Amino acid sequence: MIKVVKFGGSSLADAGQFRKVADIVRGDASRRYVVASAPGKRDPHDEKVTDLLLQCYYLAKDKKDIDAIFERICDRYRDIIVGLGMDFSLEEDFANIKTSVLHHAGRHYVASRGEYLNSKILAAYLGFAFIDAEDCVFFDEKDRFIPDRTDAAVKNLLSMHEYAVIPGFYGVNTDGSIRTFSRGGSDITGSIVAAAAGAEIYENWTDVSGMLMCDPRIVENPLPIPEITYRELRELSYMGATVLHEDAIFPVRKAGIPINIRNTNAPGDPGTMIVPKATTNVVDTVITGIAGKKGITAIHVEKDMMNSEVGFGRKVLEVLENHNVSFEHLPSGIDTMSVLVASKAVEECKGAITAEIVKAVNPDSITLVENLALIAVVGRGMVNTEGTAARVFAALAGEKVNIRMIDQGSSEINIIVAVEEKNYEKTINTIYREFVK
Ligand code: ASP
Repeated sequence: MIKVVKFGGSSLADAGQFRKVADIVRGDASRRYVVASAPGKRDPHDEKVTDLLLQCYYLAKDKKDIDAIFERICDRYRDIIVGLGMDFSLEEDFANIKTSVLHHAGRHYVASRGEYLNSKILAAYLGFAFIDAEDCVFFDEKDRFIPDRTDAAVKNLLSMHEYAVIPGFYGVNTDGSIRTFSRGGSDITGSIVAAAAGAEIYENWTDVSGMLMCDPRIVENPLPIPEITYRELRELSYMGATVLHEDAIFPVRKAGIPINIRNTNAPGDPGTMIVPKATTNVVDTVITGIAGKKGITAIHVEKDMMNSEVGFGRKVLEVLENHNVSFEHLPSGIDTMSVLVASKAVEECKGAITAEIVKAVNPDSITLVENLALIAVVGRGMVNTEGTAARVFAALAGEKVNIRMIDQGSSEINIIVAVEEKNYEKTINTIYREFVK
């Protein structure tokens, strides 16, 4: 059995955290492949090494002095090495990296060095092989990740080592330069390695004991989610719930490998299992989670007999496409169509969009409603439970929250409501309290 384990930045922020990580890895011989992030924050006021590296990059670009910040980065690693009592040095790497930064190495290369250095320490500390991600994670000339080639190369390198540490977050472009995923991308590397290793499970170790039913900044002490399906997670993370990089789901999902979100600081907690298929669809709380986002604008288009007009929807969407605006949701009625978009995306072009839609479909009316929030209530338990939507709407009516729009996906695992932004927190709290007494 193989487990692939990924540790996030806070799990590898200092020597004390490294010790916890080593205990976790050594505690189970099947934890054979470890994917590491760069050192994260040690406390809320601290800075992540990746951010410090990016600061160095921009200073060098402006031909400013990088010494002070670069030393802070080196000291983070020196403290870890000394704190672990290791006979190990990264001084040569530091010197090489500094020279590259001063010679205007690319932003991706500079940002990636946090993972590179941290993984070297972790590999030496655990006595594992170090596999460099630049030898096996590939991007094409358009900076798109190449799954098949990567999978084959990772498989090949893993087959040479029983135990190894692989830095997360980056890979190599066709021109040989380093390319990173977007921020938080070590989660993706972990997923890629888990799929290539044919792992039984992908353990993603962080600083929370799994996912919570909703944002704890909005609802006090929300219940944890013991088990969630990939589809439910996708719905929630699209709406803003963050526990894992969105793109990290795909490689393991394709391979049918479950993800277990665990807490390095509370390794006894079971965390959340993210699974292809749930063990049961009967969920005590009926709903699995609630997530949402503010900053939504609705474009309402109305026209009598719209539905019999072939190509109406396409013409409206084409206008958005021409402005490179993607839509979030598309609830529609008999003679009305509403397109929900991120307000930010239409900030500059809403006037033009309105005018072009008028020209394209000659509607009876077109209105823009701004300052909306979307809230998704997600749960596989809703599929076979009658009255879930009614409970959501009744609870909100009871709190005098006006629902501006409703959208239920055909999969029946989500109900999305649009409310005014000012009612965002109240809406989430009200729905949560309806299902969790
Ligand atoms: N170190 C990178 C970041 O801060 C990637 C990661 O931690 O996943 O975004």
